[in-house]
Amino acid sequence: MPMTSVSANLDTTSRADEFIALDERYSAHNYHPLPVVIAEASGAWVTDVDGRRYLDFLAGYSALNFGHQNPDLIAAATEQLGRVTLTSRAFHHDQLGPFCQELAELTGTDRVLPMNSGAEAVESAIKLARKWAYQVKGVPENRAEIIVAGSNFHGRTTTIVSFSTDEEARAEFGPYTPGFVVTPYGDADAVEAAITERTAAILVEPIQGEAGVVVPPADYLPRLRRLCDERGVLLIADEIQSGLARTGELLASAHDGIRADLYTLGKALGGGILPVSAVVGSDEVLGLLQPGQHGSTFGGNPLACAVGRAVIRLLSTGEYQQRSLELGAHLHQRLGELVGRGVSATRGRGLWAGVEIAEGGPSGREASEALASRGVLCKQTQDTTLRIAPPLTISREDLDEGVDAIVDVLGS
Ligand SMILES: *Cc1c(COP(=O)(O)O)cnc(C)c1O
Repeated sequence: MPMTSVSANLDTTSRADEFIALDERYSAHNYHPLPVVIAEASGAWVTDVDGRRYLDFLAGYSALNFGHQNPDLIAAATEQLGRVTLTSRAFHHDQLGPFCQELAELTGTDRVLPMNSGAEAVESAIKLARKWAYQVKGVPENRAEIIVAGSNFHGRTTTIVSFSTDEEARAEFGPYTPGFVVTPYGDADAVEAAITERTAAILVEPIQGEAGVVVPPADYLPRLRRLCDERGVLLIADEIQSGLARTGELLASAHDGIRADLYTLGKALGGGILPVSAVVGSDEVLGLLQPGQHGSTFGGNPLACAVGRAVIRLLSTGEYQQRSLELGAHLHQRLGELVGRGVSATRGRGLWAGVEIAEGGPSGREASEALASRGVLCKQTQDTTLRIAPPLTISREDLDEGVDAIVDVLGS
């Protein structure tokens, strides 16, 4: 693989090349990272193996909402590391009950199913919706359908890629799991037309992250909620990327004034320390699972629960939601000034933005590389969109510094 041209790598004393070569030689090539090799991080900043500092404008796709090395989260993890890290669910432990109680109370739900990755949470929600369809709604077994949206991103398992509309994510991973109906994102009429007696659930991202931070029309989610109520269908909101303060609300669906029956949570729930995910929702659905019907060796482990509890404590003050609103308003105002000057559109909510590069400008990859050489790390999603998602702990000065670099790279 040819190396790309970020200046750090042109430096002959750089140690980055040897690490990149090892990755290239020994790790599967399922990513194409920027040629930056991170060795340390703190807050909104990361430092590479050559001591060069960068602003983190991606924040682990929102897994690092509370910043790198957040002292409260590191303290909770460290304390739990010294006590007990894994029991398996064969036994009780003293973090699971409190974690589930605190997460249910925070999200206003009845019950919690802890898992690890986001994809597992989505898989679990699909299983729950199907079980609900057979046991509660009376759908004939094996006939349940779930309505999903085009351009969705819900993870990488074989079932989830079965209903992806991204050919790259899907091709050559079949045979595909049946039982999903795809409708255009934002089109509630199409969802209405797709609902049948066999519809178990509508699964949707309140804001589509991977698709480019796409905010749906204002009446989309409220109409889906009404359709679900009228037709006896579950609404599943995948808030793995949009949730946990990223958009200025605990849950992004609150901007649209709606509640889902099930929410999938992940990413920031693990505080950027370890994978922690969950399905949260009503007793009517989560109460259906009986012993032996679902599980995970690491799901709900003591370390995950202790970190998750520390995340919940941070979220319960509302401080991060507020920061996201305030810094987000500033971010969107500044990015908005670029529209018509190298940027064709900006989207998003809170401290989360999709920046659409105007025709004739650099590709998303080229823009990301140019930003990296200016000391700002972010990544394109789709070919021409930059996704901006700094840690919610970032200072206004640092945010401005990163936006200045974006203005330099994209502005015309
Ligand atoms: C990241 C993401 C997932 C998958 O999470 P993993 O932890 O990568 O499996 C699912 N849904 C959404 C909306 C996501 O952003």
